[in-house]
Amino acid sequence: MEQVFGCLVRFHVLRVLLNFLFHGASMSELDLCALIEDFGSEEKCRRYLERLRWPNGVVCPTCKSKKISRIAERNQFDCDSCRYQFSATAGTIFHDTHLPLWKWFLATYLICESRKGMSANQIKRMLKITYKTSWYLCHRIRHTMITVAKPDLDGTVEVDETFVGGKKKGFGMKAAKAAKEVVIGIRQRGGELRFFHAADVKSGTLAQYIRENVSKHVDVLVTDDFSAYHGAMKQIGFSAKHRTINHSKKVYVVGDIHTNTVESAFSPLKRGIVGTWHRVSAKHLSAYLDEMCFRFNNRKNDFLFRDTMLKLINSSNLEYKKLTAEVRDAA
Ligand SMILES: [Zn+2]
Repeated sequence: MEQVFGCLVRFHVLRVLLNFLFHGASMSELDLCALIEDFGSEEKCRRYLERLRWPNGVVCPTCKSKKISRIAERNQFDCDSCRYQFSATAGTIFHDTHLPLWKWFLATYLICESRKGMSANQIKRMLKITYKTSWYLCHRIRHTMITVAKPDLDGTVEVDETFVGGKKKGFGMKAAKAAKEVVIGIRQRGGELRFFHAADVKSGTLAQYIRENVSKHVDVLVTDDFSAYHGAMKQIGFSAKHRTINHSKKVYVVGDIHTNTVESAFSPLKRGIVGTWHRVSAKHLSAYLDEMCFRFNNRKNDFLFRDTMLKLINSSNLEYKKLTAEVRDAA
């Protein structure tokens, strides 16, 4: 508690710094002051998670009974029907966490609000926690940002590819050969953005991502004049709907034919990787891409923080062992 309020003054200074870092990104309805006011104690955080988890009153996770007694001194509940004792965070991603909840709340807020993402190192410094704790915390928050439901994209859809990582500068085809990672971007104009970490930019690979994400009834598919797109469109029967913009001749817009909306989403990704994460290993790239897409697709969502907390409280625990087995080389 004292720690929290001790931090309050420092946070006012931090806020100025954060505004600078976010380059004027929307601070939505919840700014840092409101966050501290609303969630500045373990009790406030716990009550908030309770309300998110059980909006219609506490329910026993074992027998679903609603006859529950609160054991206030232990922050637990006792089921009157089956005598099971549980807490608001039992079985969730917060299960067994040794971190104070307010640090979870603050880290989630920072990750939601920073347009280019935030590195584990930065969270470590801001929350005064170890790098290992910060890395694990960031990955668990990021893990909940994976969008499960992916309806087909429709209308006008732009597809483009870019290359990230590696030591050589540049993002063209030559750079791809210099061991950079391929990211395919697909964006419905006025709609959702999706990024994928792809093995290569061959026709078959491009065709697979387009087939899996774009509706058969799409109006128009726009790409640049990279030859593999022609092969890809042929494979999936989209050639008649395919329009290209001739980037190799420095033409970028012809009427409605351009790939500017998907390209504009690549720039925070590249800045994020260069400026925030510094080094993203190939193993982690998909997780970072999911985080970027989640934030991008929610950039106008005034309730992004609440919605992310909702995802966290409804996610099951992600053990450190399991996470490090999936992504062994921590970035
Ligand atoms: Zn029960």
